[in-house]
Amino acid sequence: MRLFFALWPDQPVREALEAARVELFPGPVPGRPMRTENLHLTLHFIGQIDDSALDCYRHAAQEVRMQPFELVLDHAGYFPRPRVVWLGVREVPSSLKALVDDLGATLEACGHRIEARPFLPHLTLLRKVHYFDPSPIRPVSWSVRDFVLVRSQTLPEGARYQVIDRWSAS
Ligand code: ATP
Ligand code: MG
Repeated sequence: MRLFFALWPDQPVREALEAARVELFPGPVPGRPMRTENLHLTLHFIGQIDDSALDCYRHAAQEVRMQPFELVLDHAGYFPRPRVVWLGVREVPSSLKALVDDLGATLEACGHRIEARPFLPHLTLLRKVHYFDPSPIRPVSWSVRDFVLVRSQTLPEGARYQVIDRWSAS
């Protein structure tokens, strides 16, 4: 199975993210928008694992002590290579940085190799976009109280994400 850890918006935040997309692209939508129910912010991409390794990842995540934090998504940016338009945060809360670092360090026990690239929190809104000028947006505030483990499947109709576990801030 293919797994990743993520921040998973609740329904009101999903709707605010959708509204931000409509405001950014009031006309025809370029590329392929992420389905509203699929919007997420990746913390660690695990990739393909054997089913037998799942428990290790779950137990590791359970060890992590997360502090709640507020995320303010305040601008839209573009990664030209994967051709995605995303929403980002100007201020990375120290609790988010700590969550990513602590989770990454704990996951190493399961064979996970931490990304060498610095963590750039972003929430992908659209894919297959050929050009985009970065732009500020009306900020979307998101009170983050938990993180999740997601199973990802590639189906003919697109990605299917299933939240298989969740851990809350203390
Ligand atoms: P599909 O690959 O079926 O088109 P997807 O890209 O949405 O769908 P995954 O490839 O499972 O699904 O990726 C899940 C999440 O992890 C996405 O947010 C994706 O951007 C991110 N991701 C995927 N591969 C990597 C990687 N090598 N490094 C960091 N993040 C990744
Ligand atoms: Mg992918």
